[in-house]
Amino acid sequence: MTLTTALTRHLKSPELFRGLADELGPWAGGQRQRFSVFNPSTGELLAEVPDMGPADAHAAIERAHAAQETWAGLTARARSDILWNWHRLILEHSDDLAAILTAEMGKPLGEAKSEVQHAAAYLQWYAEEANRIYGETISAPSTDRRMLVIKQPIGVVGAITPWNFPASMVARKISPALAAGCTVVLKPAEQTPLVAGAMFALAKLAGFPEGVLNLVYASEGDAIGRELCTNSKVRKISFTGSTEVGRLLMRQCSDQIKRISFELGGNAPFIVFDDADIDAAVDGAIQAKFRNAGQTCVSANRIYVQSRVYAEFAEKFTERVRMLKVGDGFEPDVAIGPLINQEALRKIELHISDAVQKGARVRSGGRRIKLSGTFFEPTVITDVSRTMRLAEEETFGPLAPLFRFDDTDHVVREANDTIYGLAAYFYASNLKRVWRVAEALEYGMVGINTGRMSSEAAPFGGVKQSGIGREGSRHGLEDYLEMKYLCMGGL
Ligand code: NAP
Repeated sequence: MTLTTALTRHLKSPELFRGLADELGPWAGGQRQRFSVFNPSTGELLAEVPDMGPADAHAAIERAHAAQETWAGLTARARSDILWNWHRLILEHSDDLAAILTAEMGKPLGEAKSEVQHAAAYLQWYAEEANRIYGETISAPSTDRRMLVIKQPIGVVGAITPWNFPASMVARKISPALAAGCTVVLKPAEQTPLVAGAMFALAKLAGFPEGVLNLVYASEGDAIGRELCTNSKVRKISFTGSTEVGRLLMRQCSDQIKRISFELGGNAPFIVFDDADIDAAVDGAIQAKFRNAGQTCVSANRIYVQSRVYAEFAEKFTERVRMLKVGDGFEPDVAIGPLINQEALRKIELHISDAVQKGARVRSGGRRIKLSGTFFEPTVITDVSRTMRLAEEETFGPLAPLFRFDDTDHVVREANDTIYGLAAYFYASNLKRVWRVAEALEYGMVGINTGRMSSEAAPFGGVKQSGIGREGSRHGLEDYLEMKYLCMGGL
């Protein structure tokens, strides 16, 4: 058995069902070992997935390497056409893909649908960008020379993705790599391999040549990661996940000076100044904090509110949080699904108990919900301070701590006082303040009067220990291209 009825009752398309069953079928790497994928809302078994090891990763790298020259040798238009096919197929099967995503990861079906649309948007963007890879000519310092720069694909890319956005992270990495002419070996997260499998099944129908896209499922990421980082046929590692694992992969890549793109953890500040539109700030904070149950790298981890509007913001925000419905992502009107696992529950409990011990007050929520899955009440706490663990660490759950501040310079210093630098948000109306704060925040992305900023058209990524490189936009394509300088003499 590979797919259980708990999963298949959500699938309407026979084409996708057959494709996914084939992906996970007995031929997949000739595997006898399998690992189980469960629905975190119900604990139901969804599928048994081939558990691949370093030898399978090695074989996948060989396939990708064998396909590299042919894929890079196609015209940009030909690569673009295949990406467009994949984009169309993903949209055609978006309801099924969203259902798989909700089943294996738990997020509300509405959020899963928008994630699939977002994944498709990356494919569309890079199907277009594939046609816009430009070199340059340089004025030579002598008349007998001509100097120019061409751009070429880096080569085989090893991609590793997390469970929190299992469809859009795959598309965000793979589509620029493919557009640039690179072949790919992907290892998706252990908890969420199914939507990646379904997307790869559709990629086969889209017409990618054999070996261009390769999937390695594994319950133990470290052995696969080591093979990807140390195999010299892999020219680049693109990783999204925790800073801790990022550090390890960087060390493993260092012997071969391998190219890397890393999207790592965050500790986003969300600042509400006293000249802000408070209702808009409450809306933005709800989005930035509770989307995906707070399990996003750009989730507002520390909410700073200026003293004059603190009470008003705290009251309006808490009222909205109390209205958020928690439950199985397939139920109507659910805003918050389960956390990914027991460890995630323990971390949020630890952050709350540490804060309460040091003087914080729970305004709403604060406990597990006794359903079959891993549910936690959306929680607001006030009277928090920087000595608490939640100020230093990414909670990755539905916990909103409200800090109080008086002074602009002070709050900017506090906001920047972290090893992370992924996303920051602030609400204000005074233009001078808006520019000053936007420029002073040491983050790769700053949302100004908005709680949501991710887009295929914009460069997503962090500074400091939140990562290296950017995904999305024209800059995302550059990360998969090498620059080659050509100098013609004797002219
Ligand atoms: P994680 O533990 O770092 O895992 C991410 C991926 O790395 C998974 O596929 C995992 O595989 C794999 N992995 C784990 N240990 C590995 C190793 N030793 N060698 C190679 N691969 C390894 O992170 P997570 O808990 O799944 O994801 C949450 C983290 O990702 C948060 O910190 C979040 O902020 C970050 N994130 C960042 C972004 C961004 O764009 N900056 C986006 C989303 C998430 P297994 O599942 O098999 O362990």
